[in-house]
Amino acid sequence: MFIGIDVACAKGKHLPLVICRQEKGRLLPIPLANHQIKPPKGLGNVLTLHDEVNMAFSNDVANYIETICDEFHLNPIRIGIDSPLHPRDNLLKRRVAEQALDKAGISCYTTPSSDDFEKIKAKGIAHLEANKPIQNLPHAHQIFMLLGFALNERLSKVAECIEVYPHATVKQLGVANIHKTKKNQAECQLSAMSHCTGWPKAESDWAQVDKICLGPMHDKVDAYSAAWVASLPEQDRICFGDAQKGDAIWIPNVEPIRRPAAHIRTTFQPKTIEQASATSHQRPCPACHQHLFKRWPFGWDAHAAHKCKGLKEAEPEARKTEFKRRFM
Ligand SMILES: [Zn+2]
Repeated sequence: MFIGIDVACAKGKHLPLVICRQEKGRLLPIPLANHQIKPPKGLGNVLTLHDEVNMAFSNDVANYIETICDEFHLNPIRIGIDSPLHPRDNLLKRRVAEQALDKAGISCYTTPSSDDFEKIKAKGIAHLEANKPIQNLPHAHQIFMLLGFALNERLSKVAECIEVYPHATVKQLGVANIHKTKKNQAECQLSAMSHCTGWPKAESDWAQVDKICLGPMHDKVDAYSAAWVASLPEQDRICFGDAQKGDAIWIPNVEPIRRPAAHIRTTFQPKTIEQASATSHQRPCPACHQHLFKRWPFGWDAHAAHKCKGLKEAEPEARKTEFKRRFM
């Protein structure tokens, strides 16, 4: 099995963790959202300031993975973690991996060094002791990394752990142009990934998406994305940073989704996608991944004829024929 974890989850919400198996070249997540055993619930930044709490949490995650493994008679092979696995080297301004992402024009937070983190923890604890509001906790966007370090330490005893970065993965796929919390962006990104992973394809697959783990859709998709990168052998991954030095962020070695009309490509307009909440009838456009069909395949012809940005042909009839040939 290949496992993906979206570490920065909301307090009190079950950790978004997706467990996948490979079958005939497809990466199939096990629908575990309604399973009686669930991963532990997010601690929130306040508790994450404490190493011993993170260690206990990581132990619960390890137990969860091992329990599911036993139940399905599968071995965990690799775990993709959406968080730094180690603090930054005290001598570096930015991690080697972060410098590589900078060069590629992919933004990312700076991982604090272990010296920095001692100060961050002390500052956070002083902040709370002074009864200052929790929402103003300093370094709030970096504290989750402490949990990432603890997860790596504990889960490395279960299987190999690699650091992944779902934002960089969708950049590579060429579908990062809308912010991930926008309506349906997550579905469109998942649809783009399905070209490589073989899932979700059929109607019945899309009906399962909601069940792969608990949490909002973009967390589910990030966790599946993490599992996807984990499922790839090293030669099928791209490394930002230096794997030898243990300072590496991995993305899939894939071509961006074909956008033949790149020169006339306009930015995505959210209003073309009308409704949220995925149901079994909703399906992102398999050509452009930017349009959501509310009742697939209803309306495919008008979309293909005039609006779809994923087709090569120019004339409406030829565009419909192309769409039909490739996707229907
Ligand atoms: Zn389209």
